Amino acid sequence: MITLYNTLSRKKEEFKPIEPNAVKFYMCGPTVYDFFHVGNARSFVMSDMIRRYLAYRGFDVTFAMNLTDVEDKIIRRANEENQSAKEIADRYADAFFEDAEKLKIRPADSNPRPTEHMDEIVAMIERLVENGYAYEVGGNVFYDVAKFEGYGKLSGKKLDELEAGSRVEVNKEKRNPLDFALWKKAKPGEPKWRSPWSEGRPGWHIECSAMSCARLGETFDVHAGGSDLIFPHHENEIAQSEGANGKPFVNYWLHFGFLNIDDEKMSKSLGNFFTARDVLDNYSAASLRFFFAQTHYRSPLNFSSDGLEAARAGLEKLRVLAEKLKRAKPRAGKDDFDVETHYARFNEACDDDFNFPKGFAVLFDFARDVNRRLAQGEPSETLVEKAGTFLREIAEGVFGVVDFSEDAAADPTLETELIEFLIELRAEAKREKNYALADRIRDGLAERGVRIEDGKSGVTYRKTDA
Ligand code: AMP
Ligand code: ZN
Repeated sequence: MITLYNTLSRKKEEFKPIEPNAVKFYMCGPTVYDFFHVGNARSFVMSDMIRRYLAYRGFDVTFAMNLTDVEDKIIRRANEENQSAKEIADRYADAFFEDAEKLKIRPADSNPRPTEHMDEIVAMIERLVENGYAYEVGGNVFYDVAKFEGYGKLSGKKLDELEAGSRVEVNKEKRNPLDFALWKKAKPGEPKWRSPWSEGRPGWHIECSAMSCARLGETFDVHAGGSDLIFPHHENEIAQSEGANGKPFVNYWLHFGFLNIDDEKMSKSLGNFFTARDVLDNYSAASLRFFFAQTHYRSPLNFSSDGLEAARAGLEKLRVLAEKLKRAKPRAGKDDFDVETHYARFNEACDDDFNFPKGFAVLFDFARDVNRRLAQGEPSETLVEKAGTFLREIAEGVFGVVDFSEDAAADPTLETELIEFLIELRAEAKREKNYALADRIRDGLAERGVRIEDGKSGVTYRKTDA
């Protein structure tokens, strides 16, 4: 039984998708006006791991992640750079796909964009107006939050509390300061689409309601995003979708904790961010994914190079084990290796609200068990096969932190051997007091992205650009 914490009910619930073996899953993706930062990456990677885990547990997952290509920030950026909004959005949508691939995020089943769903968006606003949930003022359309009885049910706030907490709005067109724009009349020079109210563009919230409905249906299983989206974005999505369709919108709401820097949320507006592509210049996708997965997806996580270094070092154990298993020359026959227990422990850990930190602990226990057996001499065929399958399914398939592909098998082995050979030569040069040569070897390796470190327990190395 899989349980997950549902933001809507504020408790852990048994996961029961609408269709027993299928999951419809929507994740709020990026607004494509810039490269995404590692805070965004945390949310994208966690949604990817949860999606992979559900697939591993036998569900047929349909995963949709939108790319917001109509939004104020894109228009602002376009004006700054003297380009069209479409040029900006296309450029950063391409960059998103490049970076997501580098991060080993599996391609979504669909990446809907508002520009491709304008008809559905306008139709949904029309339904809201018809149903009395929305009103038009001078070409703009607003959602009338006081009309929707369940407003506040996701964030757990009552309307009057929300009103008291909201800043005084200058917009006199609104009936209530919490009312939000469904349709915005275009100002001169702004991108615009036709609608019954004005030539203009949709608000951000209605885009996600209309796109998720178009791709996954009026009621679907899982909707996820960073916890900054609980209010107002997801609260508003519920009000819109349920107001328009008259049905429950989403059964399970998942929210990811923030990636922080010095205990402050990493964000574009605070300027305290690193882009994912810059971080990936120095650390592998595997290290970053492992760094994220070591903290539960709902808890805050502080970004630090120490944490990334520790992740890199920790993963070495799995990488080396994968290498050993690939190179092993097993003897025929069986042994008492009990892989089923490892699977059972792994599933039990992760079935509990996707507790991946615990899942990794099981994975490392498994690695210890297999290493101990490999150290005892010629491994059996069953050990090599079962351990290889486990590592492939879990470390590669669910977590995406080990790469079993053939290319990865051939090169790193030779590379590793050559690095070790050079380290040996450097030690020899030092023994012969040829420090110039020793330094040349160290610096030459450093230039190629391999940093040698003289530690208490001998010389180690780590890759800085892998
Ligand atoms: P945005 O492009 O700002 O709409 O964000 C894209 C996704 O990243 C959303 O699901 C956000 O909730 C999420 N996100 C933004 N900042 C952070 C952060 N510091 N930590 C975790 N997730 C974040
Ligand atoms: Zn959204």
